Amino acid sequence: MSVAPITPMTQSRRLLSRLRDVMAGSGLAQARLDKIVRLIAAEMVAEVCSCYVVRPGEVLELFATVGLNPEAVHQTRLRVGEGLVGDVAATARSAAIANAARHPKFAYRPETGEDPFHSFLGVPLIRDGKVRGVLVIQNRRPRVYADEEVEMLQTVAMVVSELVAGGELGDKGEVAASEAGGTLPARIEGMPLNDGLARGLAVLHRPQLTVREMVADEPVREVQRLGTALAAMHRSLDRLVEITEDSGIGEGLDILETYRMFAEDRGWVRRIEEAIQSGLTAEAAVQRVRNDTAARMARITDPYLRERMTDFDDLATRLLLNLSGKGSQAAVGTLPDDVVLVARTIGPAELLDYEQKRLRAVVVEEGSATSHVAIVARALGIPVVGRCADALNIIDPLDVVLVDGDNGQVFVRPSEDAFGAFEQSLAVRAERAQSHAGLVGRPAVSRDGVRVSLNLNAGLLIDLPHLASTGADGIGLYRTEIPFMVRSAYPDVAAQTDLYRRIFEQAQGKPVTFRTLDVGGDKSLPYFAAETEQNPALGWRAIRMGLDRPAMLLKQLRALIRAAEGRPLRIMFPMVAQAAEFDAVSRLMDRELSRALGQGYVAPSDLQIGAMVEVPAIFWQLDALLSRADFLAVGTNDLLQYMFAADRGDPKLANRYDTLSPAFLNILGDLAAKAETAGKPISVCGEMAGRPLEAMALIGLGFRSLSMAATSVGPVKAMILGVEVEALADFVRSLRRRDSASVRTDLHAYARDHGLIT
Ligand code: PEP
Ligand code: MG
Repeated sequence: MSVAPITPMTQSRRLLSRLRDVMAGSGLAQARLDKIVRLIAAEMVAEVCSCYVVRPGEVLELFATVGLNPEAVHQTRLRVGEGLVGDVAATARSAAIANAARHPKFAYRPETGEDPFHSFLGVPLIRDGKVRGVLVIQNRRPRVYADEEVEMLQTVAMVVSELVAGGELGDKGEVAASEAGGTLPARIEGMPLNDGLARGLAVLHRPQLTVREMVADEPVREVQRLGTALAAMHRSLDRLVEITEDSGIGEGLDILETYRMFAEDRGWVRRIEEAIQSGLTAEAAVQRVRNDTAARMARITDPYLRERMTDFDDLATRLLLNLSGKGSQAAVGTLPDDVVLVARTIGPAELLDYEQKRLRAVVVEEGSATSHVAIVARALGIPVVGRCADALNIIDPLDVVLVDGDNGQVFVRPSEDAFGAFEQSLAVRAERAQSHAGLVGRPAVSRDGVRVSLNLNAGLLIDLPHLASTGADGIGLYRTEIPFMVRSAYPDVAAQTDLYRRIFEQAQGKPVTFRTLDVGGDKSLPYFAAETEQNPALGWRAIRMGLDRPAMLLKQLRALIRAAEGRPLRIMFPMVAQAAEFDAVSRLMDRELSRALGQGYVAPSDLQIGAMVEVPAIFWQLDALLSRADFLAVGTNDLLQYMFAADRGDPKLANRYDTLSPAFLNILGDLAAKAETAGKPISVCGEMAGRPLEAMALIGLGFRSLSMAATSVGPVKAMILGVEVEALADFVRSLRRRDSASVRTDLHAYARDHGLIT
């Protein structure tokens, strides 16, 4: 008689179906959880299996165990982040550790009696994107858990999370209190992601996608269901592209194309299919892969890449909606005329699902300035406030919501006074926007005749139409890594050439400064295995990578030369720390140019190569750099971070060091002066250049070229038209000698006294 071998897949299916029986059984949730940990321990040959549940106040409580001291249940508590279990919860990442007690994160809890158990495998319990608990197995013998075991526990965790998140386990009172919205006015402090003011009624974008059926007996049928849902999702994305094209916001298209690419990503679909093979339903498998993505997201600190992961999340939601036969969430029900969309996170395709003419603002619990939703919202011209903690709990459907995208504030159920004040601001703003629109055709020239060149920072094709709509002089910074990051595969020379050519064409003769790839460190590309670095911001990135592995940089330069097709070409290199590095990249540029000419390509009519000043060290080799580079661009975002040793992405440091501190103004002023002496153009392309007050300081320091987001061009230009540069320069010079932490108030007073900023 032949016996079918027990593969990890069959073992996983067996365990899942037994779990299903327990879940479906009668009895209290606690009793079911107790059974579940016993079942898992037995099936996975573990001496311990424990389940910790997140309680209010970010505390993990031991809720069930087999193997540890039963007295510790409901007694042992750990903070999220404390110990190995806390670390799994904090990072939403599984951890397999052969000798737990030796691990630096280990937190000893004598009451548990865990001393004899050396090896540890913990996986997060995730539901609706939130960590709800941690499932742990432990063994006496120090052993390395196999990938299959980690996978199996993760799959099981899907099912257990249902029980844990179901609300039956904890104190219902506590949960209900924290989930109830209120009727009192509330203000939520967030992060401005796109400016503007708007009011409307709240529509909560909270896809109700509780996956009810977790376990399936017929994987073949589930794979078929997945195929059908994928096809439906593709059709709906195609339709969305058409609608977007028709509605004239063609800018969103580039992103939707990227979406389609993500959706077709074989890796993604394959992982879902594998999860189905392990015994899950199609829905649970999608959810499982989404949880893995969330875990990966926790490891990425680069905000841009985190957002790309959010795009996968968006796709997962779409797929789940299709599997449940609901189609898009936005299509369900009728919407008020003025919609303020409130979401944990929302992808661009989901955003575009909402009828654009009703959409007034977006409020998200997550998000960053580089999020796709922020980019699309910019194209739609609506304000976005991100990082609004708990917004979905505080705001109830159809609440009146006022969104202040300028200051990152959201007013919920405002009082009559607040409402009235807001109406006034709206009126003032509308007036100002109209007057900025009137400036589009005017050059930015100060009262005393100083011309300032205003340029755009761009990264996607959707930014190009703003050249015409703002009247900007050119693209001062084209971040080439952005199109690389949103793709699911590395673009070859032909694809890059095509993209760069389109940029040239859309720029219609206005100059574009292409910055070569600024990736590496934690800004890794989705299709390259990333190395973990202790300090990614100080790591192997930008031209450091380009110099060590020149193939990628050379290909990019090749594509740029080909795309220029005889037009003027401006290229700049990021993170130049030494003049010698600039020499080395210049040699690569020469090599590529000779190669292109040898192959019969036309040389650019004018080739200008520049360096970004972002690493303070280059300041002490500036003369050498200025003698070699055709131009410089100051990346103040990074320069500030490296000068003050303050991570630019850390919200806790966001307001600690000011760009308007005398120290920073001094280095900027010296940079401008040295470039002028050397006769080389210098510009500023960090975020500060787009804020009127900071732009005013920069002009006072001697800068005559600024590069910024499209929305900043009008306000900065209005400031320039009113300023007397000579007097301003004197004033700014006096500020450089101050020993205070910031001269912001002084500059503000100057701007107000001179009617420069309203
Ligand atoms: C900067 O560092 O200021 C800059 C413009 O580059 P990025 O923000 O892309 O690092
Ligand atoms: Mg930079």
